[in-house]
Amino acid sequence: MHCPFCGADDTKVIDSRLVADGGQVRRRRECGSCGERFTTFETAELVMPRVIKSDGKREPFDDVKLRAGLMRALEKRPVSLEAVDAAVTRITHKLRATGEREVPARVVGELVMTELRQLDTVAYVRFASVYRSFQDISDFRAEVDRLEQSKDA
Ligand SMILES: [Zn+2]
Repeated sequence: MHCPFCGADDTKVIDSRLVADGGQVRRRRECGSCGERFTTFETAELVMPRVIKSDGKREPFDDVKLRAGLMRALEKRPVSLEAVDAAVTRITHKLRATGEREVPARVVGELVMTELRQLDTVAYVRFASVYRSFQDISDFRAEVDRLEQSKDA
């Protein structure tokens, strides 16, 4: 990282230790150019990324909306609320684990499809047909065939 004193980019770590019960790493760095020393703290980034919509607008990630979307696809399907909540939790964790500040809505959509594919084929096709807006019925048919084949395998 750059030296905050002179802006040189050749700083090196001279000491590194865990602090805050291991939740943080404290590093002492020294600038190879001006010789100044400084400290940095490193913590895991655990904020939820914001979602970039297809029109370019950003919005906060909303797990209530996510859950509602799943429930809509799963309407009248034999899937328990526990399974839906577990799926929401997995999607949330995966998004957080990206460490990104912003993710395209497409990424969220793909995660939802991955979960629905495991939960219920009908719900998956429902969601995918809207989400991927299949160009015509043959695209839709191809996706259903692909699913049936992967189920047999
Ligand atoms: Zn410096």
